[in-house]
Amino acid sequence: MTVENEPRVVADDVVVSLDYVLRVNGEEVDSSNEGEPIDFLQGYGNIIPGLEKELYGMAVGDSKSVQVAARDGYGESDPEAIIEVPRSEFPEDVPLKPGLELQMQNVDGDMLNAVVVDISDETVRLDFNHPLAGQELHFDVTVISLRAATDEELAHGHVHSHEHEDEYEEEGDLDELEYEGGDDDDLLFTDEEEDNLY
Ligand code: ZN
Repeated sequence: MTVENEPRVVADDVVVSLDYVLRVNGEEVDSSNEGEPIDFLQGYGNIIPGLEKELYGMAVGDSKSVQVAARDGYGESDPEAIIEVPRSEFPEDVPLKPGLELQMQNVDGDMLNAVVVDISDETVRLDFNHPLAGQELHFDVTVISLRAATDEELAHGHVHSHEHEDEYEEEGDLDELEYEGGDDDDLLFTDEEEDNLY
């Protein structure tokens, strides 16, 4: 790759390496690990939209504070995502109490995270909203490096890290597996499975 092809600022089709700290109500809830910025492909909705749109034009070394409204972050809290479930559907050994986090499987076999809101004799109220739904997000970000995406990354719509390249890129149809092997524990990343909630 020639030097003049290297991107100078964040733009669509550029792989961005970003350090970030995420705070909600002044409290740090997530950050890139020390010396390990996250990599993503700009312009493909791989990170939350309210942050992605603020990164355009940033150069390597630039830092920025970005406030993201709930609707551009994890969305507003949806009252319809709070549902009552008969208490009898829970195994007796589940220590039900408000605030308890549960993993539940829906009819499609997807794992969903829920938090117990409250409990009555007959029912348990569960909140399936993302824990950060309804929250304003405060990011402090620094652009660590930029590079042009490969044709393959552009075709897939996401970044390929070297470790996964070796393992999976030989197999054309393992894209999903490869993607799930990525950094999607990071709160910054959009979670495609969220769409199945509503
Ligand atoms: Zn891929």
